[in-house]
Amino acid sequence: MARLLTELEKLPGVGPRTAERLAYHLVRRGPDEGHQLSRAIDGVMESIRPCSCCFHLTDQDPCSICSDSDREAGRLLVVSQPKDLEVMEKAGWQGRYHVLLGDLSGPSGGADDGTADASLRALQARLQNEEIEEVVLGTNPDLEGDGTALAVAERIEQWTGTRVKVSRLARGVPTGAAIEYTNPAVLAEAIQERRALYSGSQ
Ligand SMILES: [Zn+2]
Repeated sequence: MARLLTELEKLPGVGPRTAERLAYHLVRRGPDEGHQLSRAIDGVMESIRPCSCCFHLTDQDPCSICSDSDREAGRLLVVSQPKDLEVMEKAGWQGRYHVLLGDLSGPSGGADDGTADASLRALQARLQNEEIEEVVLGTNPDLEGDGTALAVAERIEQWTGTRVKVSRLARGVPTGAAIEYTNPAVLAEAIQERRALYSGSQ
């Protein structure tokens, strides 16, 4: 039981009390349910790997997106996590992706663990070997995401000079939000990144 609790507590968002609740729940439901869960975990661990090209988690290599020739191969959207990629897919992104599998800490770009490092090396190889015109940085609009975007942008400039256009997702007031309830920092960004509807004469 102690071993199960220790393993559960390593999961994100699971503290000692939640771990205990989950463990007792499994024990109460009997061996079938517990075995089903452990087989599901085994199955994922056996078959899911980062794509050797874009680092999206996949059971085929290269993943279905990297091997889809209908995609706009010249555009790469860089995201932190596979979950972010799924959301961008729903939003209709037509290009390809690169998944960092982690955030890079600070503008100097020190990677937080080996996975993000390996993903960055793969990104460098792609920029050198593929005909990529634009990289869109789709990391979260927070401190870590901004630091990561800056670090990746700096690396891309080191690798390619000014050959590749680097952009960042627009930010501002979310659709459906009311101005009166919007955080002032978000509003300040929205004002700074305003879009022209038509340009007035001088
Ligand atoms: Zn891929």
